[in-house]
Amino acid sequence: MSVYEKILGQDKLIEHFRKSVSLGKISNAYIISGEKYSGKKMLANAYAASIECENPINGEACMECHSCKMSLSGNNPDIRWIVRESKDNKDGTKKKAKEIPVDAIRDQINNDIVVKPYHCKKKVYIIDEAETLNVAAQNALLKTMEEPPEYGVVILLTSNENALLQTILSRSIRLEVASIDDETIKNYLMKNNMIPDYAADVLVSFARGNLGRAIELSQSPTFNEMKDHLVKTMSFLHEKDMAEIGNITKQTSEFKDDINYYFELLTMWFRDILVAKSGGDESKIIFRDEVENIRELSRGYSYRSIEMILKTIEDTKTQIALNVSFDTAFKILYMTIRDGYIR
Ligand SMILES: [Zn+2]
Repeated sequence: MSVYEKILGQDKLIEHFRKSVSLGKISNAYIISGEKYSGKKMLANAYAASIECENPINGEACMECHSCKMSLSGNNPDIRWIVRESKDNKDGTKKKAKEIPVDAIRDQINNDIVVKPYHCKKKVYIIDEAETLNVAAQNALLKTMEEPPEYGVVILLTSNENALLQTILSRSIRLEVASIDDETIKNYLMKNNMIPDYAADVLVSFARGNLGRAIELSQSPTFNEMKDHLVKTMSFLHEKDMAEIGNITKQTSEFKDDINYYFELLTMWFRDILVAKSGGDESKIIFRDEVENIRELSRGYSYRSIEMILKTIEDTKTQIALNVSFDTAFKILYMTIRDGYIR
């Protein structure tokens, strides 16, 4: 078994890691960038295990030695994770701290890296969400990066390289997680997560090359409820009066926390209507289990009104981001959609 076995579509990165281990050319600093769920943590874990392995095979962790066993169970004292702390809210729930403060870097890296590795050849520090390091923390980290001990390796994971100081970027080997092709994601979902063909299509369009995101969404009850709510709403909106639109808006507000997903779904829905209306290739329709419904609805909208609806969806998204009242913004959006339909 390979330590990289479960990581799909990242051959280039893995090849880089493999070579660095087999040639013994491990850098003191890496940045792995990619969006949320893109597999940065899995990659960092696998690479760290390979770096620490006592008998790497072709630059990969052997999965058998003492170091590997510790690494793979998450108990290798020479692999340290630095993460954003969770704080306790008054009501007992947890909330993530806004940033990684300077003390975290001083205590967990700068003061720790001076101590030689406990068991392995190297000491690997993995900083998750490095974009949340505040400037003081980045400057503290820079001190270590300027004169690292030979055995020190810092791996920064980030969804936003722009938040990092130029001086950190220039001292690191920068690697980017690759986008995965739609077919691979679809096959994975169908095979491993038992997602039916038509449902996989929606997830694939949504994931935009991010397999982790597709898996996450496929398992999210909220996402599936949201999709059902959208299909139901869009199928009958043209028959609704103001009071009913008020009720629908209330239901939509249940998805407030994930509202950007809802906007994406809405946009996909109206693009589908456009495909059906123009007599385009229906295999391009994303909501495939709703093809009949979409074809039927497409007769009620003119090209002009579809265009206007798509624009209003964008505008509403901007307004919500600017904290305009959710109710007002959605009522206007739903009225625009309703009135764009000619009975
Ligand atoms: Zn090993």
